[in-house]
Amino acid sequence: MKESELEKLRNDVLETTKEILRLVAKRQTLCTEIGKLKQMKGLSVEDPSVERTLREAMVKEAMSLGVEKDFAQRLTTLLIEECTKVQPKPPERKVLTHRDIARMAEALEKQGVKVIRMDVGEPDFRAPSVVVERAYQEMKAGRSRYTEPKGKQELRQAIADYVKMKFGADIKADQAIATVGGAFGVYLALASTISPGDEVVVIDPSWPIYKPCVKYVGGRPIVLETQLGDGWEPNLDELNEKISAATKAVILNYPCNPTGKALGRKTFKGIVEIAQDRKLTLISDEVYADYNFTGSEHNTVLNYPDVSHVLISSFSKSWGMTGFRVGFVISDLDRTNRMAAIQSMLITCIPEFIQYASIEALKCLEEAKRNSEVMRERAEAVCKALEPLPVSFYKPDGAMYVFPRIDVEGIDGSEFAVKLLEKKNVSVAPGGAFGNYFNYFRISLGQPKDSLVEGVKRIGEFLS
Ligand code: PMP
Repeated sequence: MKESELEKLRNDVLETTKEILRLVAKRQTLCTEIGKLKQMKGLSVEDPSVERTLREAMVKEAMSLGVEKDFAQRLTTLLIEECTKVQPKPPERKVLTHRDIARMAEALEKQGVKVIRMDVGEPDFRAPSVVVERAYQEMKAGRSRYTEPKGKQELRQAIADYVKMKFGADIKADQAIATVGGAFGVYLALASTISPGDEVVVIDPSWPIYKPCVKYVGGRPIVLETQLGDGWEPNLDELNEKISAATKAVILNYPCNPTGKALGRKTFKGIVEIAQDRKLTLISDEVYADYNFTGSEHNTVLNYPDVSHVLISSFSKSWGMTGFRVGFVISDLDRTNRMAAIQSMLITCIPEFIQYASIEALKCLEEAKRNSEVMRERAEAVCKALEPLPVSFYKPDGAMYVFPRIDVEGIDGSEFAVKLLEKKNVSVAPGGAFGNYFNYFRISLGQPKDSLVEGVKRIGEFLS
């Protein structure tokens, strides 16, 4: 008797689920019709005000039905996404990334052509010799075993001491995880914060990995564009408007790749206040914290312990350790443990001898300072060389890039980058890779100054 009751309920669940799918199909048909009308009227597929009205209605409905509000939000986001898919869009613009240009540059190099490489964001510095030596000695001593997923206590304590010394931040060693560069840190932060359907605000122009990574964990990137004319300053009212009930996080990256912008204290604090007010997590990618040319303190999310946050840092830039593949994340204990569980599942831990080498790097304060000074000098030289060219740009406050706009009618950044490489053997990253900035290009400062100045000179010849 009981068995059949269970069977009946299961069957009802099955039928209800099928009914949901039938309703989804009906909804998709309606969306297709709307899409056709929008196309006829020349309206864009996405309409934030319509989305917002739908969301509000769904939350209200969910509350009256006793359905969890968060679930209703996620479901709404998924439905909006599916609807967007069936609506006709203008053909996608072909955008080349710095990786595409790098591949083309490498092909030329293989043919013996000397290319001035200003495409990939990798410093040319070598890791400090004490770091290399320590890695070597530890490897020789057999320290090439698994460690706990977060990394050895010794390293995590060294990270805690380092952020205390640099930023006055009080964190426990257990709040830090040594991970595979800042890149994996971004993934851990998102995977531990975002559920499918959640929205994440990304401030453009941005490092090209953020948006695909948000999508990879099932989230939806919502872009807040910033403009050269505003000194790449994010507008806080616009930020507030971009946040919906489904928004869970904002990604910050200051000093910024590609613009070189660093945020002043007032704006940083303003963003923190918005995040607190709207109950969001700030995912703050501060891998360029050490490349700071402003003379004032670097603004770090660690100075705002009351806001939900994840700090992402890396050894790649400060100490020229890109190939060591090591960085760290810091968050509250709860999220750190969730991130550690993901790290454990996917990679177990980073190599033991790299962990020891990282402890050594954290002591190399002079090297980091010197590297920053070299980047500052290069930025100065590149900006000076760019001055007479038909370009406009923001003089970087930090990071290792200059992001000029080409002030020549009808120019496309991707085409520009390809032709510049072919004609002048100079490689740059096309602006379209960083968002809706097709007439921009990015110069990476990971080359000696003379080479950069020569590269800019050739850009000038090419543009004239
Ligand atoms: N964040 C930003 C903004 C970057 O530009 C980069 C590297 N280009 C990274 C993170 C990742 O660096 P890594 O994984 O080498 O630490």
